[in-house]
Amino acid sequence: MAARVDLDGKPIKPLTICMIGAGGFIGSHLCEKLMAETPHKVLGLDVYSDKIKHLLEPAGAHPWSDRIQFHRLNIKNDSRLEGLIKMSDLTINLAAICTPADYNTRPLDTIYSNFIDALPVVMCVIVIFDLIRLSIIQFHRLNIKNDSRLEGLIKMSDLTINLAAICTPADYNTRPLDTIYSNFIDALPVVKYCSENNKRLIHFSTCEVYGKTIGSFLPKDSPLRKEPEYFVLKEDESPCIFGPIEKQRWSYACAKQLIERLIYAEGAENGLEFTIVRPFNWIGPRMDFIPGIDGPSEGVPRVLACFSNNLLRHEPLKLVDGGVSQRTFVYIKDAIEAVMLMIENPARANGHIFNVGNPNNEVTVRQLAEMMTDVYSKVSGEPSLEEPTVDVSSQEFYGAGYDDSDKRIPDMTIINKQLGWDPKTSLWDLLESTLTYQHRTYAEAMKQAIAKPAAN
Ligand code: NAD
Ligand code: UDP
Repeated sequence: MAARVDLDGKPIKPLTICMIGAGGFIGSHLCEKLMAETPHKVLGLDVYSDKIKHLLEPAGAHPWSDRIQFHRLNIKNDSRLEGLIKMSDLTINLAAICTPADYNTRPLDTIYSNFIDALPVVMCVIVIFDLIRLSIIQFHRLNIKNDSRLEGLIKMSDLTINLAAICTPADYNTRPLDTIYSNFIDALPVVKYCSENNKRLIHFSTCEVYGKTIGSFLPKDSPLRKEPEYFVLKEDESPCIFGPIEKQRWSYACAKQLIERLIYAEGAENGLEFTIVRPFNWIGPRMDFIPGIDGPSEGVPRVLACFSNNLLRHEPLKLVDGGVSQRTFVYIKDAIEAVMLMIENPARANGHIFNVGNPNNEVTVRQLAEMMTDVYSKVSGEPSLEEPTVDVSSQEFYGAGYDDSDKRIPDMTIINKQLGWDPKTSLWDLLESTLTYQHRTYAEAMKQAIAKPAAN
């Protein structure tokens, strides 16, 4: 393998990378790239390994076999303190750092105090810190913070990449607790161990931290809606605009935002070397699952897999609330190039938050459905339905508490300046290669699955 150099012409030394969530969609593509094209070593952590089985098996058979290990591991924590709960009927939690002067000077303590330290309380722990009422209550001098594991693997690595998360919108309003725990609490030990052991962290956040655009609050016919400053999303300028708490869709974005703030604060207060990635709808082969074939038949994956499933079943594609929301889609292989540049150019990537998306590939969800229908017809040779789409309400499709991001155009200035990265693949081309993969991988299994009930 030719010696690799970074963007400044300096040789890149082989790294050991602890990759958490290595068995997922993005993780599987990143592992593939690292094994095929670099000398880097991967310690892959996940609860599943199906999507990287081809890299791991048969054991010892690949040129990279000694460079990839898989550790089946769940990074979740447990909590303590339960004893005190059980003694009480009511919990009053007053514990908090709550002086504004601390919010920007001690952001870490502030976040820990107001969220992390309150968690065990929410989990039914009774702790009363009301000193005035000491005479009538018991006082327990107790610090409610948690500890975790994982440290060994992070210590063995030069770099940790955290991809682990619940990240399918159908979960955000139906499993908001799991969503918040997964995207914030479960990521905490990772951040902590990287910081304490002076290890570099690349953390996967989301474009959804931007929430809704400013323009979406303007009157429908306002000419300002066409002005880029009302919709283009910039890492260092755009606000994060979420809906009300009862719209539980935003549980994911809010948890991701808080973990970003915590990582940023670890950088500011404790010198953590970090990079935060905000993916804008990365799509391609191996994304999510096809319900009833390689995932639960009632499961709702992200839009690419939902529409692929409809096409494979020859049923109309379901447009939620008219399919008017807009998205920009980037090909997974283009996006992985951006992550490679971050991995191998720490001096240019550290301390930055990067949008990674393709602003040229914007469509409404309805246009995506129409394009996927045309592309699938081309790659499968099957004619499309006369009525290829059907409207459904978000209430019917996702249940109560769903809400949507209206438009997501990434500003590319920072990633372009720091890493010289630009996406290349058009939406038509990326759909053509992805739907060719979906057809090759699933069409036969789908035929059999559909035929089975009739045969019975
Ligand atoms: P994915 O669901 O395919 O991958 C996530 C992986 O993390 C899964 O394999 C899962 O098993 C693993 N995981 C979850 N909880 C875990 C735990 N407690 N312990 C160990 N492993 C655990 O999703 P993806 O599309 O590959 O996304 C990866 C990251 O990128 C996520 O953080 C997600 O929020 C972010 N992201 C992705 C996109 C996108 O376009 N694909 C968009 C926005 C954000
Ligand atoms: N969507 C849809 N039909 C589906 C699945 C999703 O109309 O079968 C819509 C969804 O409401 C959203 C967009 O497609 O407006 C993208 O959804 P996805 O789940 O991929 O994630 P998001 O981009 O919202 O994070």
